[in-house]
This record gives sequence, structure tokens and C-alpha cells, in this order.
Amino acid sequence: MRPEALDLPGVQEHPRTLAPRRMTLAEKLYLPLLPGLLVTIRHFFGNLFRTRKSYTIEYPEQRRQYSHRYRGHHILTTRPDGSVRCVACYLCATNCPADCIHIEAAEQPDVNVEKYPVVYEIDMLRCVFCGYCVDACPEEAIIMSNNYDMAFYSREQSIVGKADLMKPYTFDATKLGYRPYYPEEAGERAAMRRQAFDLVAAARGRAAEPPAAA
Ligand code: SF4
Ligand code: SF4
Repeated sequence: MRPEALDLPGVQEHPRTLAPRRMTLAEKLYLPLLPGLLVTIRHFFGNLFRTRKSYTIEYPEQRRQYSHRYRGHHILTTRPDGSVRCVACYLCATNCPADCIHIEAAEQPDVNVEKYPVVYEIDMLRCVFCGYCVDACPEEAIIMSNNYDMAFYSREQSIVGKADLMKPYTFDATKLGYRPYYPEEAGERAAMRRQAFDLVAAARGRAAEPPAAA
């Protein structure tokens, strides 16, 4: 049964029949499109006759300098001895919303480390460059660089492994991208951290040496 209409001042009954919307004359002539077209035409002639400053970048001859927090191609960082810093804890893969990180772990000969990744792959065509893997990593083993050159000729090429992800220890730390724990890190501070890594590596080396004969 149809409910009673509210008999209140200012309250109208909800319409119960459907009527096709009638277009105005301007809409029939597509006139509402004109403001958008005029913006396009203004930009077209502005760029054609260079009547204003052009922001076009002639890539790849010219390259844009992005923020140090830019999230580009991933990097797997290494220890001073060249081994991968990743301890195969799977935190990055677990946090990845695109499910695009594949890790296969193996036992690390160094008893202080426990595990390392035999296989570490990122499917770059599935990655959404959110940086969650970098946020999750407890070892700063995965970071994101300023590199935005990611062109692939086949689907297989887009799945990058350790060979593409690992950078040598001497990689220029000032060119690094997104590292949430060191957002404002300067080159000087990066050098200090490297010296600290060297000290740890030297101490481990001394501990592994056989004791001198008495
Ligand atoms: S950036 Fe985001 S989507 Fe890409 S691998 Fe890391 S967590 Fe996954
Ligand atoms: S979170 Fe870091 S240490 Fe753990 S598996 Fe990922 S890259 Fe390796």
C-alpha cells in the first residue's frame, strides 16, 4: 500500500514516475564542450608558436630531476663484501599489495644472518610503486631509486631478478630514491654509514681468523 505523503511545509513527495531528461538547445549543439576545446587549442598554439614557457622535456636527451623521495626502480642493497643484505624474511612480499614479489630462501653460510634469497624477483608490470616493500624491510635491503627507465620488450623481461636489482656497494648513495628511514640523508651521512658497515665487516673477519699460535 502506498504510504501517506508527509504533510509538512517545505517537504515534497518523492517523484514516483520516470521521465527522460530533456536536453537544452546548447547541449544539443554540443556547446558545453567548447570551454574544454578552447583550453586544448590554447595549449596547442602556445606550444606551436612558443608564446609562453614550454615545460616539454625532450626525453631521453633531457632528464627530469625528481625528488629524492621518488619511487622508481627497486634496488637490492649489498654488504661491503658484495653479498645481498636481504635476509629473506618475506616481510616485503607479505606487504606487497600487488603480490608481485617472489622470494625463494636458502640457508646463509654466515650463522649471524640465517637466510638469504636464492631467488628474488619483482614483476615490474604488476608493481604499483607504492613503496610498501621498502617501508616493511627491517634491513634496508630493498630501496627505491630515482631510475624511471623501465621499458621492456617482452613479458619475461618485466620480471626482474637479483642480477637487475642488486647494485654494487659503491653505488652512488646520493642518487638513491625512496628510503623512509633516511628521508633527508646526505652523502656525508651515507659515507658514515658505509664506514660503520666496514667496521662491522672487519670485526667479523677478525673473529673468523684462527687464533695465533702461542
Ligand atoms: S612498490 Fe609496492 S607494489 Fe611494488 S613491489 Fe613494492 S610493495 Fe609491491
Ligand atoms: S623485507 Fe627486506 S630483508 Fe625481508 S625479504 Fe624483503 S628485502 Fe629481504
